[in-house]
Amino acid sequence: MRRRQFSIVSRCALCASEEESRNHLLYTCRETKKVWLIVSNWFGHLATPKNIEDAIAARKKHSPLIKQLWQACVISSIVQIWKARNKNFMRSRI
Ligand SMILES: [Zn+2]
Repeated sequence: MRRRQFSIVSRCALCASEEESRNHLLYTCRETKKVWLIVSNWFGHLATPKNIEDAIAARKKHSPLIKQLWQACVISSIVQIWKARNKNFMRSRI
């Protein structure tokens, strides 16, 4: 379709109001921010990550155990956000 100069804009499957990009879906989507706010609060961190670098850097000053727990939560959150995205995407196709 792109060769034929059709413009394909995919809407975010979680909020349906923004164009879907990796960064939007995983970090800046209003629905995704709710997940990051909860996870960040578990670690006493009030700011939510804005990208993967932010997410990784957020726990650099802490003990190895806390860093490992944080990384596990980041990976798990990304997987769950992706699953929710796919579920909503498939639901919208029916
Ligand atoms: Zn969104």
